[in-house]
Parts: sequence; structure tokens; C-alpha cells
Amino acid sequence: MAFESLASRLQSAFDKLRGRGKIDEAVVSEAMREVRLALLEADVNFKVVKDFVARVKERAVGQEVLKSLTPGQMVIKIVNEELIELMGGNVAQLAASHRPPTVVMMAGLQGAGKTTTTGKLAKYLQKQNRKPLLVAADIYRPAAIKQLQVLGDQLNVPVFSLGDQVSPVEIAKQAIDHAKANHLDYVIIDTAGRLHIDEALMEELKQVREVAKPDEILLVVDAMTGQDAVNVAESFNSQLELTGVILTKLDGDTRGGAALSVKAVTGKPIKFAAMGEKLDALEPFHPDRMASRILG
Ligand code: GDP
Repeated sequence: MAFESLASRLQSAFDKLRGRGKIDEAVVSEAMREVRLALLEADVNFKVVKDFVARVKERAVGQEVLKSLTPGQMVIKIVNEELIELMGGNVAQLAASHRPPTVVMMAGLQGAGKTTTTGKLAKYLQKQNRKPLLVAADIYRPAAIKQLQVLGDQLNVPVFSLGDQVSPVEIAKQAIDHAKANHLDYVIIDTAGRLHIDEALMEELKQVREVAKPDEILLVVDAMTGQDAVNVAESFNSQLELTGVILTKLDGDTRGGAALSVKAVTGKPIKFAAMGEKLDALEPFHPDRMASRILG
């Protein structure tokens, strides 16, 4: 289960607050020392942890304990609120252009779940009575186009492909024209993934962005990879100016580092969470629900 060890570590940190009558500095410091270790062990970015602990301490020390709560519960309440804030506060909405189609560019490293998530997003939009078009612009991985076509067939969503001999820029351009002509209101472009970030990849993505003028550039990252996911997000963001992140594989036993650091490090919200291989396993990312899971 995701966050299991973080949840139990936090629980034991808060257990020590039980029976305390007052939130004084020593009590808070002791609890937060353990919270700090728990977050670091969960692979949360070092600076994020430092700032987080400082904020909770500042708010907790000297805080008037609400009558209905014990001091321990009061600290947990503050930690909960700060966790929610750390993950972006509110649910971040998917863009909807006033002049359809809304163009969504999907980016990500190979294996992160980009193509699967592209299909999931189409299904999510379909459920909202939207008419998405999937665009096969990953022309380098031979199976990628086929994979997208299979997803499109399963979902009954059209897939735009020009094979693997036409440039992704041209594919994107023609796909948008196709969507306009056919009154499709979302264009989801599955761009090329690589094993590692390289200049050629970024250059190509920039060119696609230039032509497609996306309303959203969503980076798909694998939550299981913790800090690496955050570093990948930071690099993509610095080159492409992402509008958001999609975290995948939250059904696995991820420790929590990616979910807790990505917004603070990149400034870009997590818009969706993928929690399984099935096509309906995609949900808008709810920081409050995630915080509840983390707090056990
Ligand atoms: P891409 O290379 O980024 O396009 O990755 P794929 O979409 O091909 O996915 C790589 C693997 O991860 C596949 O086996 C997917 O079924 C799997 N996968 C994708 N998203 C999730 C998820 O949220 N949970 C789990 N458990 N597996 C996922």
C-alpha cells in the first residue's frame, strides 16, 4: 500500500503527544523531529521537509488548543493542513479552452505510464461528455502508435496517426485541424518518451509546443521513483513550462516523496493521480484525500 510506512511513522510520532496537557516548544520539537525523519525516509525533498517542519512548528508552538481537541490532535490538525497545502491545497482543474479544441500535450519518460495515462485521460473526458482525439506523435517507439490505437479502439475514441515517417510537429498540426473539422473538443497529444532526458527530445517537444500551442502540458511521472520523479519534473518544467503533473502508480507501495515534493519544488500542481493499469484508474488529484491517506 502506498504511504504505509510514512503513515505508521507519523502515527508513532503523534502517539508520543498523547496525554500532554499543553503544546509547548519541547513537545512540538520532539514530535517534529520524528515527523522530519519520517518524511526524509519517505524520500521527500530535503528542503521541502525543512520548510514544512519549520512551518508546522511555528504554527503549533503556543497555539491555543481547541477545547474539543487534545494537544496531540491539535498538532495533527496543523500537520494535516500543512500537508494539504504542500500538495497544492485545492484540486487543480484541467484546462478547458473557450475556443475548442483544448489541446493537451502529454510528456514523460519511457515507462512512466504516459501512453496508458493518455488513454485514461480520454476516458475521463469521455465520461464528462467531451469528445477527445488521441494523437499518436511518439513515432520512435514502434509499439507506441499501435498501443494508442488499441486504447482508442477499446474506448471508442478516434486516434489520429500519420505513421512513423511524418514529423511529430506535422502530426500535431494536422491533428488539431482534424479535431476542428470534426468538432472534437480535446486533442491529447502523446509525445515521444525517452529513457533519459536529452536535448533532442526537449527540442522536439518545444517544436510541438510551438505549433500546437497547448492549453495544458502535463508531465507523467512514476510516483514509485520518488525524488527522481521530482528531478525529472524540475527539468521538464524548466525547459517546457509545464502546466501540471500526473502522478502514476500510486496503487503501488510508493513511499510518498514524489506526491509530497513535486508541487513545492516545481510550483506546478499535480492534476491527476493514476492508481492502476485499468483505463478507469485515473482521478483528479485531491490534496486533502491524499493527506488523509498519509496520516493513516
Ligand atoms: P510510457 O512508456 O510512459 O508510455 O508507459 P506505458 O503507458 O506503456 O506504461 C508502462 C507500464 O506501466 C505499463 O505496464 C502500464 O500498464 C503501467 N502503468 C501505467 N500507469 C500505471 C498505474 O497507475 N499503476 C500501475 N500499477 N501500473 C501502471
